[in-house]
Amino acid sequence: MKNSHIIRAISVDGSAFIHAADTTAIVAKAAELHPLSKTMTAVLGRALTATALMSAQLKGKDNSLTLQIQGDGPAGTIVCVGDSFGNVKGYAANPETELPPNEQGKLDVGGAVGAGMLHVIRDLGMNEPYHGMSPLVTGEIAEDITEYYAQSEQIPSACALGVRVNRDLSVKSAGGFLVQLLPGADPELITVLEENLGKLGSVSQKIAEGATPEQLIEMVFDTIPFDILDQSDIAYTCNCSRQRYSRILATLNQKDLQSLIDEDQPVETVCNFCNSKYVFEIDELKQFVK
Ligand SMILES: [Zn+2]
Repeated sequence: MKNSHIIRAISVDGSAFIHAADTTAIVAKAAELHPLSKTMTAVLGRALTATALMSAQLKGKDNSLTLQIQGDGPAGTIVCVGDSFGNVKGYAANPETELPPNEQGKLDVGGAVGAGMLHVIRDLGMNEPYHGMSPLVTGEIAEDITEYYAQSEQIPSACALGVRVNRDLSVKSAGGFLVQLLPGADPELITVLEENLGKLGSVSQKIAEGATPEQLIEMVFDTIPFDILDQSDIAYTCNCSRQRYSRILATLNQKDLQSLIDEDQPVETVCNFCNSKYVFEIDELKQFVK
C-alpha cells in the first residue's frame, strides 16, 4: 500500500489555508494493530485523520497534539496523538464495539461516540501544554472539529473526514481535509468557499473513487486561485519501548511496587497504541525498590 500523505495549500490572497490528506495506509495500520470492528475502524480512522490534519500545523520538533474524544457512547474514550513529523497513533477504549448502520445506511460513528466533550492538548515544548475543549456536536468527529476551532480557538473552519471499510474489514479508503480562514479573510471568498463545500458531497466517497488530496484541494478551492505549499508523508507510528515502560514502573510509589512484588507474578504491560507487550520479571521490579 502506498504511504499516507498530506498536502498544504493556501489561497493566493493568503486568506484561506487548507490541509488535505490521504490516510488510507494509516487507518489500515491501525486496523492491523488493534482489533477494530467495522464501525470502530471508521471512528478511530476519522479521529486519526483529524489528528494528522491538526498536527500538520505543529512547527517545533518536540511539539505534539493530543485529540481526546470523551463521549458517552459505546466506543468509550478515544485518544489520538500526532507530532510535527507526521507520526500519528491512537486507540479507543472499546475497539470492538459494533453498531447497526444509521438511518442513512452509513457506519454509525455518531452513535458509537455519543455526546460529551472534545479535548485538544497541544504540547509546544514549553512549560504548560495548551488545553482547549468544546462540546461534541454530532459525534461524527468532522463537525466536532469545526465546532472546536470556532468555540475554542475562534478560527472559522470546515473539516471533512471519511473512512470506507470493505466487507472483510479491510480499509478501502480514508482521508479528509481541514480548511481554515485567516483573520481578515475576504467575505466574498468565504461565500465562494461555502458554495464549493456545499456541493462537494461525501469526501470518503470521493477518496474511495480515487480522489487524491490534490483533487480534494481543487474541489474545495475550485475557482479560487491557490498555491501548493508542500507535501509530506505521514504514518501510523508508535514510539513505545521496553525502556519507556521500565521508566514508568520505576516511578511507581514504593507501596504499589511492593504489592506487585508480593503478588510474585511477572508484570505484563501492554501499549494501548500498538498492543506491544513488555514483561517485567520480579527480579527487575526489585531493582526499583529503594
Ligand atoms: Zn506502542
